[in-house]
Amino acid sequence: MSFDPSLDKAPELLARAARAAGCRPDLTQGGGGNVSVKTGTERMLVKASGSQLKDLTPRSGWALVNYGNIRRRIAAGPGGDNEFSEYICAQALPVLGVPPAAPSIETGFHALLNTVVIHTHSVYANLLNMSAEGHALGRRLFPDAEFIPYKAPGPQLCTAINDRARASGPQVFFLANHGLLAAHAGVEGALELNERVNETIRKGLKLPPYPAVLPSAGLSAHNAARLAHYGKSFMLENVLSPDQALYVGAPELDGKASPAVNEVLTALFYILDCMAGLKLTPRFLTKSEVAYFDTMKSGRYSRK
Ligand SMILES: [Zn+2]
Repeated sequence: MSFDPSLDKAPELLARAARAAGCRPDLTQGGGGNVSVKTGTERMLVKASGSQLKDLTPRSGWALVNYGNIRRRIAAGPGGDNEFSEYICAQALPVLGVPPAAPSIETGFHALLNTVVIHTHSVYANLLNMSAEGHALGRRLFPDAEFIPYKAPGPQLCTAINDRARASGPQVFFLANHGLLAAHAGVEGALELNERVNETIRKGLKLPPYPAVLPSAGLSAHNAARLAHYGKSFMLENVLSPDQALYVGAPELDGKASPAVNEVLTALFYILDCMAGLKLTPRFLTKSEVAYFDTMKSGRYSRK
């Protein structure tokens, strides 16, 4: 029998978490970030691949999966990228009145944590995640949090998170060159935890306000000015995140910038500017870490 979303409060809770995490460009840019809500011991609602958090509603933009299977699969050894991605897609279950959708490529780590998981590409967390000194600094601010060295998104990252994951209790993960995970028993608790982490970093490091991201045709005036400061070749040769590797190439820097690209760029420039102000050393992805995304650009990894 299909899951009937009208008989369960989980879709409303998921939409509430998605709206809160997805409406702020300092927390999520473009299609980045995802949220999930578990219902029972095997089922989990998770953002759909290729959709944006802010567009998720109780009736669309998410998939239902058997997370028990995904959890067992990761524990047993998740396999290669394609194999693991196909396995996750095969765990999608039919939902009455909700268009079928592939679960987010990041569904794997959601399956491992507490009932509600909020994953964002928070610029505040990423200031710590993308600098050489950041995780040591983060451990002082958040002694109970987990700090995961850079792993390619997919099975490698899931295995690293699985080693540290707890199925209950609040938990925070800092993922190097990637983002933040906040897990909690309920939506309000997860949102509060997420907000507390961001505010602690903002206040603790006295960070400047995040610039307004205004809709514009092509590169925004703010991004054009920051690009003039850093230079196009610097931005092409120094990659801080999977988002940068996937979305920010020469055509985009030459002006073919969508709203999503402008959001990603504003985040990158904010992080680089803050690092310069705080005298932190950017930790760029290595050539082989960047090359990983070359084969992914046309595939599912381009649509979180
Ligand atoms: Zn992510």
